[in-house]
Amino acid sequence: MTLWLCATCGIEHADTAEPPAACSICSDERQYLPPGGQRWTTLAELGEDRTADIDELEPDLYGITVTPKVGIGHRPLLVRTPAGNLLWDPPGFHDDVLIEAIKELGGLAAIACSHPHLTGVSISLSHRFGNVPVYHGEDDRRWIRRPDEAITLWRDTREVLPGLTLVQCGGHFAGSAVLHWREGAGGRGVLLSGDTFLVGSDRATVSFMRSYPNLIPLSERSVRKIIDAIAPWPYDRLYSGFHPGLIETDASKAVQRSAERYIGWLRDDIRDPDEGA
Ligand SMILES: [Zn+2]
Ligand SMILES: [Zn+2]
Repeated sequence: MTLWLCATCGIEHADTAEPPAACSICSDERQYLPPGGQRWTTLAELGEDRTADIDELEPDLYGITVTPKVGIGHRPLLVRTPAGNLLWDPPGFHDDVLIEAIKELGGLAAIACSHPHLTGVSISLSHRFGNVPVYHGEDDRRWIRRPDEAITLWRDTREVLPGLTLVQCGGHFAGSAVLHWREGAGGRGVLLSGDTFLVGSDRATVSFMRSYPNLIPLSERSVRKIIDAIAPWPYDRLYSGFHPGLIETDASKAVQRSAERYIGWLRDDIRDPDEGA
């Protein structure tokens, strides 16, 4: 049997002799198929010209960079805690060098995904680290591509390790989540948002979309639901799922202001000043 990875989204699929007919993640309106249609690859093929590096972003937080990029090309993050490490939004690739680098940081105690697009090779990695649980949103269970006993379904909120809490926000996917890291940013709190909301190129604001590649917006109701879900969780710094994807400080207020701006445009309460009255 062969472990097939979709070349477009980088997500591993259940072991089969022949690749599946299509990747349902990429056939969905939130993703896309490349010119020429569905393509499949394997870890061995990806490993021919790839490396994965780990860099410290702040004390106890590490970013993983796969070069050249695999799939959507997001930035997986590893949070180190005294109770064990959590891998957030796993990459679509691993090799022995990456496994050793993770072991040097203390291995993994849990893996969690913000939403189905960023599950990568979560099950393969779980198997390399003693079948640690892979947290996947219950409301998105139909998108699971590689069923496995390591998958742990959750809903609403779930503290996966002391001080590390998954918070379901919905929006982009019904189960779209963020991870709250209480001790991050020197104890001021950090939020890892995947693409539940994404930091803009200005590194000062965020936006909210049903689909980023196909530019499908979210409704006011969805954005308010996201803001309400994170309201109880204090944080100063925000990392979203793609480079550079960082609001260094006062991120909580920046997210609130961004949501008000977004809703203002939706409701026609904000106008371009050049447009006149
Ligand atoms: Zn795909
Ligand atoms: Zn996504």
